[in-house]
Amino acid sequence: MLIVQKYGGTSVGSIERIQNVAAKVAKTRSEGNDVVVVVSAMSGETDRLVSLAHQITGTPSEREMDVLLSSGERVTIALLAIALNNLGYPARAFTGRQAGIVTNSVHTKARIERVNGERVLEALKHGVIPVIAGFQGISEGADVTTLGRGGSDLTAVAIAAAIKADLCDIYTDVDGVYTTDPNIVSEARKLDKISYEEMLELASLGAKVLQSRSVEYAAKYGVKLRVVSTFKDGSGTLLTEEDKDMEKVVVSGVTYDRNQAKVTIVGVPDKPGIAAKIFGTIANANIVVDMIIQNVSQESLTDISFTVPRSDINKTNEIMKSITKEIGAKEYELKEDIAKVSIVGVGMKSHSGVAAKMFTVLAGEGINIMMISTSEIKISCVIDAKYTELAVRTLHKAFELENSHKGT
Ligand code: ADP
Ligand code: ASP
Ligand code: MG
Repeated sequence: MLIVQKYGGTSVGSIERIQNVAAKVAKTRSEGNDVVVVVSAMSGETDRLVSLAHQITGTPSEREMDVLLSSGERVTIALLAIALNNLGYPARAFTGRQAGIVTNSVHTKARIERVNGERVLEALKHGVIPVIAGFQGISEGADVTTLGRGGSDLTAVAIAAAIKADLCDIYTDVDGVYTTDPNIVSEARKLDKISYEEMLELASLGAKVLQSRSVEYAAKYGVKLRVVSTFKDGSGTLLTEEDKDMEKVVVSGVTYDRNQAKVTIVGVPDKPGIAAKIFGTIANANIVVDMIIQNVSQESLTDISFTVPRSDINKTNEIMKSITKEIGAKEYELKEDIAKVSIVGVGMKSHSGVAAKMFTVLAGEGINIMMISTSEIKISCVIDAKYTELAVRTLHKAFELENSHKGT
């Protein structure tokens, strides 16, 4: 088989762990498989690099941030290739550019445009194990880019698609995808399989076990994707097409996202074109707006609230300063201590009363809901960040997702 194995930050967090990964890769190779490895930076390294830049300014140049952040993965590819060579397995480290990953030029959240897998395939042909830096690529203009936080998952999937791998295994610090974050709710249940559609919702709503774009990409290119543990044996969680059994389960997972911030513009003149102006300006700065709420207008003035990724908060603040003046709004507020809690399930399509139950459960704990958004297969509520764990735990229980439940 041709297998892509991706190892996350915790899995390569020390020299000892890198050696453990080398041994696992060597074992897969010795069993007669061809292996391509994708690695993240050592755990905590990307955060450390971000904070170094932020000690200088809150709004560093994004092109320069990519040069900085991509350095984390350069370290681990080199160390892992050295460790593999040391075990007698020829390996070669490749940066994103060397692995043929071409992206657009939206720095810090670039999208992959194409992957030229030739060099990787050439290495395999010579019996060499390619060790590829996750999370990075190169723009048409030859600048280093990064793919957004958690982006090594996407690198692995994109490489797997390009070289037509039989399997893409995401090795991490949990042994699969659970009904909710097992580090928060000990009763969380591991799923043996999950549909791409549900996984995409879970991932985009904060279940960081897989980066959402990697799931999207895997579904699009038919990559067989699995989440497995680096530290213990097991079959993990396989992503599959949706089947009838899955629809029987109304809610299959609970997620939280603490990486959002809420912006409220107060006293906005209620006339055509204002929302287009505000959100057009934000979109031009490549900031992704998630939820939007506009209040009923009183005396031709209204309030607009929306959420943006917390990592874009400084950029958003700059834009808000000028746009509130431009549109003649009274003022704006930024609130960072919020969380978005969501329930997900393909079975929701055919069930009513799920939203009402979610609101009742949150109300029962005295948790105030600031914003709501729904789709066919998810319901999200923005709440005060301090209630995140309580909300996740209570929802997980109320929708009977614990071990005893025989859902999927
Ligand atoms: P890596 O560094 O290997 O990429 P991440 O930290 O990005 O690992 O993702 C793994 C983490 O995702 C787990 O440690 C867990 O806390 C978190 N997580 C959140 N939601 C889920 C879920 N539904 N199932 C499994 N893990 C989850
Ligand atoms: N090192 C990057 C991050 O921490 C990419 C990744 O780990 O997937 O976001
Ligand atoms: Mg990750």
